[in-house]
Amino acid sequence: MEHYQMLINGQWREASTKETLPVINPYDKQQWGTIPQASKEDVEETIDAAQTAFHSVWKHTNGFKRANCMLKLADLIEEHAEELAIHETKDNGKVIRETKKQVPFTARALRFFAGYADKIYGETIPLDNMNLFDYTMREPVGVAVLITAWNSPMQLLMNKLAPALAAGNCVIVKPSEHASVSTLLFGKLVEQAGFPPGVINIVTGNGKVGALLTSSERVNKISFTGGTYSGRLIGKSAADHFTPLTLELGGKSPNIIFEDADLEKAIPGAMAGIFASTGQTCIAGSRLLVHESIYNEVAEKLAERVRKIKLGNPMDETTEMGPVANENQYLSISKMIEDVEAEGAKVLVGNEGDLPENGYFIRPMIVINVENSMKIAQEEVFGPVLSIISFKDEDEAVRIANDSKYGLASGIWTSDLARAHRVAKQLEAGTVWVNTYRTSAVQAPFGGVKQSGYGRERGFHSLMDYTRVKNVMIDLSNETRDPFSINV
Ligand code: NAD
Repeated sequence: MEHYQMLINGQWREASTKETLPVINPYDKQQWGTIPQASKEDVEETIDAAQTAFHSVWKHTNGFKRANCMLKLADLIEEHAEELAIHETKDNGKVIRETKKQVPFTARALRFFAGYADKIYGETIPLDNMNLFDYTMREPVGVAVLITAWNSPMQLLMNKLAPALAAGNCVIVKPSEHASVSTLLFGKLVEQAGFPPGVINIVTGNGKVGALLTSSERVNKISFTGGTYSGRLIGKSAADHFTPLTLELGGKSPNIIFEDADLEKAIPGAMAGIFASTGQTCIAGSRLLVHESIYNEVAEKLAERVRKIKLGNPMDETTEMGPVANENQYLSISKMIEDVEAEGAKVLVGNEGDLPENGYFIRPMIVINVENSMKIAQEEVFGPVLSIISFKDEDEAVRIANDSKYGLASGIWTSDLARAHRVAKQLEAGTVWVNTYRTSAVQAPFGGVKQSGYGRERGFHSLMDYTRVKNVMIDLSNETRDPFSINV
């Protein structure tokens, strides 16, 4: 049994109440560790520490020095990548072939944003009145609370942490109670990278800990990745103090295959969209929209490949799909698919075949004859369940794609360049992939519209979300002004 502690003000600590939560491997359902469940006192103390570190040290630390700490941290992540990946897989069941790639990718994000740390500056602005000198400064916001979900803890963390640090903020990280271990191990590297105490803090525990953090008046920015339900609660409590928010929430993303698509690429693309990571990705292309002329062909080709998916131990490099991440996930997905045929859809694959014995395994499922109005096409399953919907023409494809409360990602498969641009322009989504899906880059902004959230992560845009603009206006003249009239 391994016990992990929280990182508060540079010290490794238990919860003040000594309360803990179990760490469970979803592959064998065995508990292998514990993490602290932070108390209200712990949360308050962490906010104190982060505020003190910000005002006394970090906001006086220049961008070059901040970048050096970030670069050192990136090196350390690469040195410890295997250990981090193994622990993440043991914690949330994500296949090792993916965690081994995701962890080094977080070092890339740190290096990308470290490059910005000493290049954040304002503008001088010419005004109508040439006796006035006007300039802006970009300042860090202060203390940012970074809350992550369990599906990709290290990657979700780095989408937030890297721009927050580069912009000069102190942070309080709150990973999911279902997968905190890789984040806590990462905390050990923070110390070695030379960050002053209190600049990066990690508190653990359930949603109550998140709620204590996000409702605090002493927090200056919140970046949240998780479900739309929790996002709505956070939006409401943040409104009490007008705390700026970035919300990365759920999705029900359309992946559209037109009749002129190269199916050699589109079929693996559709597979990656929904069965990678056991379907537990916010960007899951869970609604596959297929032109009616190729509907049966696409469904059959997908079914053939899905029947061959290798389910098993996520620690085995050849495994393609592991278990879902925890018991809640297992129960929630099982409930969503139990009456999937009730509205007239048909399960093409997913009801037969052996499953590995112990873990939280769900069979990959393809559902055909789906209408977009059905529950299975409207609600996020967050599991390996693909709904295939038929469309007649481009206009109908766009209408169906946009007929969703979500707007996170989308995909277009076509060999017609003009159509690709035309459809990309019309899709209501933060990301449009053309002839690819689930492809990541640290430079490209990522985020949602509608109930998938707002604000952007990655790329230059996310850096701006961790800064605020101050305008300075100086009167260069010797004139006195009329106090009872507007001065322009
Ligand atoms: P969740 O909302 O239950 O929990 C996410 C995090 O929020 C956890 O750390 C949790 O402890 C905390 N939390 C829960 N209630 C809270 C509250 N009231 N106040 C503050 N914090 C609270 O989500 P989950 O089950 O961990 O993750 C699955 C969801 O996350 C899915 O909907 C998925 O689409 C979404 N997600 C989105 C993205 C994205 O980038 N858009 C990425 C990954 C996952």
